[in-house]
Amino acid sequence: MDEPSDNCCGACGGGPIRGPELMRAALVTGERGIKIGEISRPQPPMAGEVQVRIRAVALNHIDVWGWRGMAFAKRTLPIVAGAEAAGEIIAVGADVETHSPGNIVSLYGALTCGTCPACMAGRDNFCERMDSIYGFHIDGFLREAMNIPARLAVRAPPGVDCRSAALAPITFGTVEHMLFDNAELEAGQTILVHAGGSGIGSAAIQLAKAAGATVITTVGSDEKAIRARELGADHVINYSQERFEGRVRKLTNRKGVDVVFEHVGPATWAGSMLSMKRGGRLVTCGSTTGILAQINLNLLYQQQLRLIGSFGCRRANLRSAMDKMASGAVKPVIDTILSLDQLESGLNRLESRQVFGKILVEP
Ligand SMILES: [Zn+2]
Repeated sequence: MDEPSDNCCGACGGGPIRGPELMRAALVTGERGIKIGEISRPQPPMAGEVQVRIRAVALNHIDVWGWRGMAFAKRTLPIVAGAEAAGEIIAVGADVETHSPGNIVSLYGALTCGTCPACMAGRDNFCERMDSIYGFHIDGFLREAMNIPARLAVRAPPGVDCRSAALAPITFGTVEHMLFDNAELEAGQTILVHAGGSGIGSAAIQLAKAAGATVITTVGSDEKAIRARELGADHVINYSQERFEGRVRKLTNRKGVDVVFEHVGPATWAGSMLSMKRGGRLVTCGSTTGILAQINLNLLYQQQLRLIGSFGCRRANLRSAMDKMASGAVKPVIDTILSLDQLESGLNRLESRQVFGKILVEP
């Protein structure tokens, strides 16, 4: 650990000096600029805080956007990347009784205030402080260690390791919130999950199956179709070979599905709207193919459809996701595990969609 670093951030004048007070981190420096540099180690945690040795960081599209440099994001560069992570407690602040060194924790992805009405009601993702997403607005998790408020470090149940816990905040937590809090998916209902090979798609297939739903999913290749079936999907549609909405109508006796799980956007939107049964719910947490889509308003009100936007999740969703991991009801799907130095290849891989499941980085 003490050898001279080739990845000096330059802030020290470019010399290979590395003191014990520094640690490695991934820094977004500008448009397509990311480098492995060094930042200060955290001070001992203050009251109410825990210090976490970050063990696994999952990559998400928000990292790719952050890396591309979203013009509207309020932030100052460089910023430490990484929005979804887990680690091990290495120290606790004086008054912290809920955590001890050695605990594995999953880290909630936003520095919420903890005191506004939404936070007090457990609706963490409605916190009045809205510019506090780790790795996007403020320094994130791709570093060796950091202090965070103890309430944002959700303890993993026995049997859930850091790699699994790293997928609770965005991957499984977001999907829990979408499917159950927002779309109110129930046993016996049918759901269309777009992009079953993506990180959240692979989580949605498993969580919906575990809840007793029938799952139809779309994938872009025959190889991904096999893997989606292995995750439990009842029907898999290769969207590169046929129109998914036509197949969905056939599979549902022309009725349509109860719930559409959207995160693709314009490329699938029109078909998604046509895939719902009367009273169907479309829940979306993303738009990876663009941000503008049209809505047939006749269809919307005549079919009494509901369109639900979903962003982030509640801390309770992290707990329920990890409980399902612990019981074996769901299994994290990991595409690749990378070192910090391989981060940029991971971002390229995610952007190219050549993934099945999640890419993890271990700082
Ligand atoms: Zn709040």
